[in-house]
Formats: sequence, structure tokens, C-alpha cells
Amino acid sequence: MHTAAALSRLGTESAFEVLARASLLSAEGRDIVNLGIGQPDFATPEHIVEAAVRALRDGAHGYTPAAGLPALREAVAADLHRRNGADVDPGHVIVQPGGKPSMFFAVLCFGEPGAEILYPDPGFPIYRSVIDYTGATAVPVPLTEATGFALDADAILSRITPRTRLVILNSPANPTGGVTPKTQIDALVAGLERHPHVAVLSDEIYSRMLYDAREHVSLLSYPQIRDRLILLDGWSKTYAMTGWRLGYAVWPRQLVEPVTRLCINDHSCVNAAAQHAGIAALTGPQDAVEAMMARFDARRRAIVPALNALPGVTCSDPAGAFYAFPNISGTHLTSHAAQDLLLDRAGVATISGTAFGAMGEGHLRLSYAASMERIEEALSRMAALLDEGPPRH
Ligand code: PLP
Repeated sequence: MHTAAALSRLGTESAFEVLARASLLSAEGRDIVNLGIGQPDFATPEHIVEAAVRALRDGAHGYTPAAGLPALREAVAADLHRRNGADVDPGHVIVQPGGKPSMFFAVLCFGEPGAEILYPDPGFPIYRSVIDYTGATAVPVPLTEATGFALDADAILSRITPRTRLVILNSPANPTGGVTPKTQIDALVAGLERHPHVAVLSDEIYSRMLYDAREHVSLLSYPQIRDRLILLDGWSKTYAMTGWRLGYAVWPRQLVEPVTRLCINDHSCVNAAAQHAGIAALTGPQDAVEAMMARFDARRRAIVPALNALPGVTCSDPAGAFYAFPNISGTHLTSHAAQDLLLDRAGVATISGTAFGAMGEGHLRLSYAASMERIEEALSRMAALLDEGPPRH
């Protein structure tokens, strides 16, 4: 076989590998606390499940339009208007099987050898992976702990060259929980006006997951860049629907037709019942989302002080999402060594910060999408292990 070179450039998401290792250890009878995977541990709200069941019973068994059911695209536009005050043409909303495919297609629209694409580091690993796949040059924009891992407008703008085609933004962020303040977004948008050749992919999949009464600032609220903005969001995190595979992006007019063609070539459409569930999620009661966030917040308030109490570990408050990103450099372990040690010796699955880019060295990602009891168990096992002192080589 002679496979395409691009295949070897495609990266991966270590969370899935850690999940596989953790499952293997569980199958061997080990009690593993999984703080590795980034998915809510709650059930999808009942009325959403019910809408999918009803759709199947009512005969929603066929293909739908490639970009999604018109009612779903309208519900997305109405939801975005409600939340961000932005006018969104439902015809620009393309529904896909999860948030990831919008990311992949956005990068496919711009990436090729000679092109440069900026992405956050540490950041969601798929950005870098798919940029590399296209042969474009992946340009990391470092995020630092000092700013709470917020995006820094100057750091982005100073990396733009005539070859830059796309800038990827993510707030609230995975893996850091960082939230970018409006002042930085204002400055970024103002700066981007000097670079009209640069498009923006704003990954706002955690837009409903903010703490301390923070308000989400969507890139959608900047009309100056609407003609080159791809806004990614979805149902996976907000409604605990990761396995349903349902997400969307709002595309600039110029990309709606080519991206619809990508959908037709790739998956035809998202499964119909999931789309009906998506309508119910957006148009139905939102109290389950609020209840879930209250639970996440309580866990956040427990996990951060517990991490700070560990020897060699410091952790700042995540402002959004459901990840803690502690600094472990005081343990004198590399991130990868800490990940392996915690899994093998303490039975606690976490993800090495380096899985999210070189700037993640010295950090671990802990997802607090686990019950308070399991989080407490994980932290007490981590304390017992780290109290033993630095491992002897
Ligand atoms: N964007 C970010 C920043 C994420 O963390 C994730 C999932 O972990 C996604 C997108 C993808 O979400 P989905 O499961 O809907 O593909």
C-alpha cells in the first residue's frame, strides 16, 4: 500500500488514548477515577431524549437537507440572537455531526502549503492536527498563566503575516478554562481591520459554561468581521449531548455553498432524530443547563483549593468550561510523567498539558465532569502519592 503523506501528519486527541488506557485498567479490576475525558457526566435532559424518540416514532428516518433541518437552523439563529443579540441568517447555519467537523472543514477551507494558520497553545489538539494535515504552517499563539490563559490581542496580531489565512480563537477554553475579556476581543477585532485577508474561526463550544456571573462575549457581536467569521458552537457540552454528534457553525456567505458541498461529500446530513433533539434543546426549558452549571461550579470550588493544597501544585480559578489546569512544576515531574504516574500508581486519569501543545508543559488537565465524591477520591489519592515526595529514579 502507498498511503498519502498527509495521513502521517494528522495528530490525535490524547484524551481518547487516556480513556482507552483507563478503560483497560478498569477492565483488569482497578478502580480508576477518570478526570481525563471532557464530557459532562450528566444525562441528556429528558425532554430532549423524548423529542428524538418521538421523531423516530413519527418516521424521521430519512436524509435531511445536507446543512440541516430548516427548523433547526432557524432555532440556532434564534438562540444566537437571544444570547448575543446578533442577527444570524439561518441560511448561514450549517449543522454537522458535532463541533469537530466544523473545525475540520474551516481549516480545509483555508489550509494548504504556504498558508499560515494561528492557533492557541495550549489549546484543543485538533486545531494543530488538522492544520498540519492540510500542509499549512501551524503558528502557535502562546497563552500564559499570568493572564488566566486569556487570548492576548497583541500576541495574535504580531504573528499575522501576508500568508496568514485563518486565526483560531477559543473562549471559554479547553484545556485551561481561560476566558478572554472583552477588552482583548475589542483590541483584536480592531487590529484585524488592518488585515482584511485574515478569516477567524471562533470556537465558542463552551459559551454557556461561565462562572462568577461572567457574560459570554461572542465574536458574532462584531459586525466589522462578520463577513470573515466562522462561529462554532453546538450541543455536546451545553446539553450533555457528546454522543449524539450534533454541532453547528455560522459561516460567512462565501463559504456556505462550498461547506454544504463538503457535508454532501462527507456525511450527507446529521442523523434526523438527533436534529429533532437539537430543536427541543434550543427551544425547550433551559433549567437543566443552569442546574448542570451549578453542579460544575460547586465542583470547581472544591477541586481548585484541593489542588492548591497538593505539594508542588498551584492552580488558578478556571473562569469557564469544566477543566482545571494546575501548574505542577513544583513536583519536578514532567507533565507526561505526572499523567502516567497518576494513572499507574494512583488510578487517577488526567491529561498531560503537553497534549495541548508545547506551552502546556508543567501543567495537567483535570476535567471536573465527575461526581464530587469521585473528585474527592482522586484528590486524596493524588495527595497520598505526592506526599511521598519526588519519585526516585
Ligand atoms: N471545541 C473544543 C474546544 C472542545 O473542547 C471540543 C470537545 O472537547 C470540541 C470543540 C468538539 O466538540 P464535539 O464533541 O461537539 O465535536
